[in-house]
Amino acid sequence: MEMLINGEHVSDMDTSDVINPYTGEVIDTVPISHLNNVDNAIEAANNAKASLQEMSAFKISNKLFNVVEKLKENREDFALLLTKEIGKPISESYVELDRSIETLKLAAEEAKRIYGESVPLDAGLNGKGFFAFTQKLPLGVVAAITPFNYPLNLTIHKIAPAIAAKNTVIIKPPTDAPLTVMKFAELVNEEFPAGVINTITGYGSEVGDALVASEKIDKITFTGSVTTGLVISQRAGMKKVTLELGGNDPLIVLDDADVDAAVKGVINGAYLNAGQVCMGVKRIIVQEGIYEEFKNKLVEETSKIKMGDPMDKTTQLGTLISEKAAKQVEETVNNAVKGGAEILIGGKRDNAFYEATVIDNVTPEMDLVVNETFGPVAPLIKVKTVEEAIQIANATEYGLQSGVFTQNYRNALRCANEIESGTVFINKQSTFRTDNMPFGGFKNSGCGKEGIKYAVEEMTRTKLIGLNLR
Ligand code: NAD
Repeated sequence: MEMLINGEHVSDMDTSDVINPYTGEVIDTVPISHLNNVDNAIEAANNAKASLQEMSAFKISNKLFNVVEKLKENREDFALLLTKEIGKPISESYVELDRSIETLKLAAEEAKRIYGESVPLDAGLNGKGFFAFTQKLPLGVVAAITPFNYPLNLTIHKIAPAIAAKNTVIIKPPTDAPLTVMKFAELVNEEFPAGVINTITGYGSEVGDALVASEKIDKITFTGSVTTGLVISQRAGMKKVTLELGGNDPLIVLDDADVDAAVKGVINGAYLNAGQVCMGVKRIIVQEGIYEEFKNKLVEETSKIKMGDPMDKTTQLGTLISEKAAKQVEETVNNAVKGGAEILIGGKRDNAFYEATVIDNVTPEMDLVVNETFGPVAPLIKVKTVEEAIQIANATEYGLQSGVFTQNYRNALRCANEIESGTVFINKQSTFRTDNMPFGGFKNSGCGKEGIKYAVEEMTRTKLIGLNLR
């Protein structure tokens, strides 16, 4: 598939293969772009700013709704392509498509609600006699750099609010899974003037970095790992940056929890998308009174997970993004076992597959739970008290989302108040998200918020206009 620059399809001399991790087949190739194409995309996006900014909010909203209809019409094709490029079960690809449609709809609605407020300057010293108001203005050109695990929805979370707020866009999709994003950009391009949306493929450290460092780009919105996020924050200079980074989300199960609900939370939260979820359940912290019952039920439910052909509608666990990624998970689990952890079920790799795996006797110092393990593993950490559970939940550089299972409102509120993460759910696991809610982590999990209304805020700048009436 070719890149889209200024409404034209563009290739380059070198290409990289996009590989189906289940079959090993090459699905397509995409250009490894050279920097001259990055310059062309930046120029196109800058030139297109005027035509987008002249467009009424009413028209932009309608055009975004038209893209919603196009995505709905092509839902099946997009879902199949998504499963082919990342190996996620087809049932999960349909969910990603439905969320993508919803995210886009929210942005089409929000396009009509971007406005400032009147400001009573007389509330400040010497401010009497003014009439003042703010405007929310576009930033200009937004570069969106996105990861492989939910490529379509996470990219729409950036480009839809950017366009709703009258910014033009350059997308750098993930190298392993660029196709659904590029196909989606084509749909947007059909509705908007040339140059409003552009795509650049290639190496993140090369073309991604060129976007980040460019003085002709006004905003970087990035979703990906902490490692890349730190590089971007150092390279971006004065431009605005939103960083949605990794997670190491806890799921706390207290003695008074509904055990079946908590087990369901782990099954949904730790194995979803083969554990490759930023807000996946990655550390399961269980109070000792309920530990044995919880552990046994979790192993039993894990044994029912059906791993296999991602195109099969009944498959629950597909492949990881690559064999290399599966080997990394295997190595991390094996190291934990060498340190005293015990695999209760799972623990085997087959090419890019890794089994749903429950691990007992995990201690908080093990790499398995110190770092973000991006695979279908459920590590169990036993604690005595609520204090200890909160202390372990917070003992991490990450702070994206969290889940607490308890029937006791005091414990619930205490955990909600004391856990340091962008979201705390009570009686729900951390993988829960609606596309309108404010989403974004504390600590090294990032800075800035997404969720359409909040993303729009990050895609605009505020100007105050004051009229001296005296
Ligand atoms: P990654 O950081 O390796 O890559 C993300 C994107 O950045 C890719 O498009 C890549 O090509 C590009 N990139 C790489 N180096 C770059 C550089 N120097 N400059 C500019 N761009 C560069 O992440 P990944 O492996 O694709 O995704 C997995 C990670 O993303 C996990 O850590 C996961 O938790 C995180 N993630 C976070 C969220 C969130 O909303 N917080 C959502 C999904 C995934």
